[in-house]
Amino acid sequence: MENEGSYKILITGGAGFIGANLCEYFLSKGHRVVCLDNFATGHRHNLTACLADANFTLVEGDIRNLADCQKAVAGADYVLHQAALGSVPRSINDPVTSNEVNVSGFLNMLVASRDAQVKRFVYAASSSTYGDSESLPKVEDKIGKPLSPYAITKYVNELYADIFSKTYGLETIGLRYFNVFGRKQDPNGAYAAVIPKFVMQLMKHESPVINGDGNYSRDFTYIDNVIQMNERAMLTANPEAINTVYNTAFGDRNTLNNLVAYLKEYLSEYDAQIASVPVIHGPQRAGDIPHSLASIDKARQLLGYDPQFSIQDGLKQAVKWYWENLK
Ligand code: NAD
Repeated sequence: MENEGSYKILITGGAGFIGANLCEYFLSKGHRVVCLDNFATGHRHNLTACLADANFTLVEGDIRNLADCQKAVAGADYVLHQAALGSVPRSINDPVTSNEVNVSGFLNMLVASRDAQVKRFVYAASSSTYGDSESLPKVEDKIGKPLSPYAITKYVNELYADIFSKTYGLETIGLRYFNVFGRKQDPNGAYAAVIPKFVMQLMKHESPVINGDGNYSRDFTYIDNVIQMNERAMLTANPEAINTVYNTAFGDRNTLNNLVAYLKEYLSEYDAQIASVPVIHGPQRAGDIPHSLASIDKARQLLGYDPQFSIQDGLKQAVKWYWENLK
C-alpha cells in the first residue's frame, strides 16, 4: 500500500464496535492511536487490550463539544471518524439527540480536523443514504430520499464533507457501511443489531424473531473488510480516489432466513441443540427497504479494495468469538 509509515491516528467512537476494531488493528500496525469517546454506546471493555499499549491514548470526551474534538485531534495525521448514534429506531424515538451527535458533532470534528491540518478525514457514512431507491446493486451516485432521521444525518455528513474539501481543501473520504458485523458488536440493548442479538438468543436456546417473512435481504459485511477499506481510504495516494464516498460491503446479499440458517449451522458445532431452536416471524418493520446490495466496483477500481471475508467466513469467525467471549 502507498504512504506506508508510522502515523498518529485519531479514531472517534473508538470504544464502539467498529472503532475498537480499528484501534486494535492500527496499533498492531505500529501506529499511535488516540480514541475519543464518551461511552454513550461504546464500552471500556472493548479497549482492554488497547489500554495496555503505550501507543494508545484515550480521550474521554464528547464530539458535541468542540474543545474535546480539538484536544483529541491535536497532532493527528489522520482521522477515522466513527462516533455517532447508530440505529434507525433510536433516531425515530429521539431525532434531536441523533442530530446533535451525528450532525453537529460531525461538523465539530470537521472544523477541528481542518484547523489541525490533518492529512485526511475518513468517516463512517451509511448505506441508509440510499433511502427509498430500489435500484440494485446500489451505486454511489444514485441515491433516493432518506427514510429516517438517522439516514438524514448520515447524508448531511456527506454534504458537509464535500463542502469542506471544496471550500477548505480538507481531504475527505466517506465509507458507506452496509450492515457490518463481527467481534465486539454489542448484543445488548434496545437498539442492538440483528446478528449479535440473534447469536446471543440462539446460545440461550431462545427463538430469534425475524421481522416479516425473512425474505428481505442485506449485504452483510464482516468487520475485517471494513478495516481494509479504512486503511485503503486513509493511505491511498491516488488523487482521483479522494473527496468522494465508497460503498463498504462484500458485494453479495443474503436473506434474513439465510442468515439465521447459517447462524444455527455454525453455532450447532458448539452446541448441537441449537440446530432445533425454532425461529419466530413477527410483523414487518415500517421503513425497512426490502433489499440491499452494494456495487463495490468503485472501491475496487479506485482503492484496490479486495474483501477477503464472505458472509459465511465472517459469521464463522463472529460466532466463534461470541461463543468464546460471551457464552
Ligand atoms: P457503536 O455504537 O458500537 O459505536 C459508536 C461509538 O461512538 C460508541 O463507542 C459511542 O460511545 C461513541 N459515541 C456516540 N456518541 C458520541 C459522542 N457524542 N461523543 C463521542 N463519542 C460518541 O456503533 P458502530 O456500529 O461501531 O458504528 C460506528 C459508525 O459506523 C457510526 O458512525 C455508525 O453510524 C456507522 N455505521 C455503522 C453500521 C453498522 O452496521 N454497524 C452501518 C452503517 C454505518
